[in-house]
Amino acid sequence: MKASRFDYHRPATRAEALDMLQTLEGAKILAGGQSLVPMLNMRYAFVDHVVDINRVDGLSGIEIGGNVRIGAMTRQRHILADPALKARLPVVAAALGFVGHLHTRNRGTIGGSLGHMDPAAELFGIATLLDATIHVESKRGPRAVAIADYPQGYMTPNLDPDEMIVGISLAPPAEGHGWSFIEFAQRHGDFAVVAVGTTLAFDAAGKVNDARIVLCGMGIAPLRLAAGEALLMGTAAEPAAIAAAADLATRQDAMSDALASERYRRHLAGVLTHRALTEARARASHGKVQ
Ligand SMILES: Cc1cc2nc3c(=O)[nH]c(=O)nc-3n(C[C@H](O)[C@H](O)[C@H](O)COP(=O)(O)OP(=O)(O)OC[C@H]3O[C@@H](n4cnc5c(N)ncnc54)[C@H](O)[C@@H]3O)c2cc1C
Repeated sequence: MKASRFDYHRPATRAEALDMLQTLEGAKILAGGQSLVPMLNMRYAFVDHVVDINRVDGLSGIEIGGNVRIGAMTRQRHILADPALKARLPVVAAALGFVGHLHTRNRGTIGGSLGHMDPAAELFGIATLLDATIHVESKRGPRAVAIADYPQGYMTPNLDPDEMIVGISLAPPAEGHGWSFIEFAQRHGDFAVVAVGTTLAFDAAGKVNDARIVLCGMGIAPLRLAAGEALLMGTAAEPAAIAAAADLATRQDAMSDALASERYRRHLAGVLTHRALTEARARASHGKVQ
């Protein structure tokens, strides 16, 4: 099938893009096109105007400071291959290894992944795990959206039609933290049925002082397993504590769809949380200087 008719626009500057988003009725941003184009071609989505932001300067790049800031148009392959990011936040590259295929990562962007907001998207999970702030701009000015306030419904981000994501900030755990991102999908490169990401940081006494666990694919948005995180805090993340946190993952609400039942998703959440926490614990420096 072919997309229904639309007008194509290619702004050269951010101001021009924002102007188009404000004035054109029924406009959608085109980033990597890896989700929008199939949606248009299959006629799941209908638009009057496509605003292609691929020629707009200043929307890509990775800056590592106290937080990590990634420009919206940064390609997934650049994020995956960035050595400084891999050293500071290895869980990001681990998650990106599961995103689509080489050719989809060559075009796909982090802003597009968050704009599309598939419930099982790994980068949406990473944003939730790492307490992301989504930086948004429109002609009305900039806005910062905490990831907790970002999902408004199924594949519905907290974005007005005239707004564009310009970057994402991630809050990394302390240096030396352990990490893991694992998923179960029907085939490699497919969206996950369930994915689990975790980071664990330990103090000098070997006790957990920062625990983060995210479950993806369970509902309309990734879910932080807050009770499991609280349970691990102050422990040495010994096997019994990990088992207890994994047990909590099996008790979360989950959806049923053509891929898997609610019961199977909850089972997967428990198994993957157990594996991910065990792996993260093994990778952590446990408060020792590395
Ligand atoms: C075969 C295949 C397998 C895939 N497998 C996976 C997978 O396993 N995991 C996964 O997460 N994804 C997967 N994807 C999707 C892929 O990662 C896309 O790259 C991603 O979902 C969208 O990124 P994009 O840059 O291509 O965005 P586009 O397709 O250009 O846009 C997607 C949506 O986001 C909006 N948007 C784009 N940029 C912005 C912005 N800056 N501000 C506001 N809105 C914006 C668009 O208007 C559109 O609604 C797969 C895609 C394909 C084709």
